[in-house]
Amino acid sequence: MAQIRHALTTKRADDFAAWYQEVISAADMAEESGVRGCMVIKPWGYGIWERLQRLLDDRIKETGHENAYFPLFIPLANFEREAEHVDGFAKEMAVVTHHRLIAGPDGGLIPDPEAKLEEPLVVRPTSETIIGDAMARWVQSWRDLPLKLNQWANVVRWEMRTRMFLRTAEFLWQEGHTAHETEAEAKEHTLRMLEVYRQCAEEDLALPVIAGEKPENERFPGAVETWSIEAMMQDGKALQAGTSHYLGTNFSRASGISFQNREGTETLAHTTSWGVSTRMIGGMIMAHGDDDGLRVPPRLAPWQVVILPMLRDNDEDAALIDYCEGLRATLAGQQVLGEKLRVLLDTKPGKAAAKRWDWVRKGAPVIVEVGGRDMQNGVVSMLRRDRLWDENSGKPAFETPTRESAGQTIPEILADMQAALLTEARDQREANITRGVASYDAVEKHFNSGAKYPGWVEVQWSKPTGAALDQVVERLKALKLTIRNVPTDGAPVDGACIFTGEPAVERILLARAY
Ligand code: AMP
Repeated sequence: MAQIRHALTTKRADDFAAWYQEVISAADMAEESGVRGCMVIKPWGYGIWERLQRLLDDRIKETGHENAYFPLFIPLANFEREAEHVDGFAKEMAVVTHHRLIAGPDGGLIPDPEAKLEEPLVVRPTSETIIGDAMARWVQSWRDLPLKLNQWANVVRWEMRTRMFLRTAEFLWQEGHTAHETEAEAKEHTLRMLEVYRQCAEEDLALPVIAGEKPENERFPGAVETWSIEAMMQDGKALQAGTSHYLGTNFSRASGISFQNREGTETLAHTTSWGVSTRMIGGMIMAHGDDDGLRVPPRLAPWQVVILPMLRDNDEDAALIDYCEGLRATLAGQQVLGEKLRVLLDTKPGKAAAKRWDWVRKGAPVIVEVGGRDMQNGVVSMLRRDRLWDENSGKPAFETPTRESAGQTIPEILADMQAALLTEARDQREANITRGVASYDAVEKHFNSGAKYPGWVEVQWSKPTGAALDQVVERLKALKLTIRNVPTDGAPVDGACIFTGEPAVERILLARAY
């Protein structure tokens, strides 16, 4: 095998965290803003977010939700109505206390003490308590239910340790909020939206996930049940990629969301909430990126095909662009993965090879290069981002189909790549889950073995609660482990709890996590 000269300087295997940062800048996705914990999302990164928004928004609407918009500022009193909720978020709330600045003694501007708000306003970390107010106004009778709303917004949580996309102080997300007549219906809806997230992750992001219930200690503040989808990154760590909460009547009691039921009795509604954020983009990077940069799954790629004419600033250029335009038009008229194919003819000035590597690092699924000789032969030179290298020669694995056949086969290649990325990530995940680890000692041994990427382990437990659960959480903390979730896949349980020795009732996944 020949030596390959990769497009990034950091390899995943050498320093995964540094590699992640390098991909983000090399793919021109985002940059530090200078504002603590807040990033600038650049056009390529934002274009990927817009694709995800569109695909997920369609799924949210298909399940009967409507979009609406609620205020960025939430009166502190709203939070105080739900004790667990305010406790959970208190340590990361940004609060507005003044509405005017005046000149201070040292010349700079300071908040005007005369303009102190009577009641502080919290910059929303999540919107249950303000959407709850609206729901209380809108819901009178059982006929008004279910009420199924969604909001696309930014939220602020004063996170202490931030990392681009994965955990930022301000992030973009959608938050769904629904109110239902009965507990059964609300619980069913919580799981339905979890399934929507699973499908979005797997079908759109090619990100295999494990859906399951979070243990009590990981519940959303104020929730009765919290469910999540968990994805494995290439370093074997877990990423919580989305959450869906059954809130019982906790928030409807706090906000007064009550209705006359079918029997004429005033009753509290059962509510749910669920969210997915820009963190998903981080998950896509860490699941699919390689030593040459990002690899964007075709469904998510702002441009699925990029055509690069090798312009020379001479008389041939116009003919070359014409030739490329022929391929562009053929591709643009086609459907792939249920949508119109997105193809860019990139005629920006610059050396063709440099432009090629820029698009490789950005992860465009198919890159087509066309030089004068290609044109004379009626062919194009084509690179598939997920099979970039010819291992034997150590050179990029160009194929040279005729222009006409490229027009026919590129849609098939894109569909194939979407499936291949999912399979690759799923195989990687399965190879890194150790199932049926039967004792805590064995867990300890597994994570202390010195393996660089120990992955996840699956164990059985008796589902302790309260202080007994706290003890388990502390023991796991010593190994830097957390309980990810209780998978819903229904595999049988028999044997003893690895923590208490009592009969086990559930299987749980343990992992180091982002
Ligand atoms: P939550 O409302 O806490 O259930 O959060 C909903 C989803 O938002 C989580 O499942 C995460 O994927 C994501 N999320 C939470 N905190 C952050 C953060 N600081 N930055 C980016 N995404 C986040």
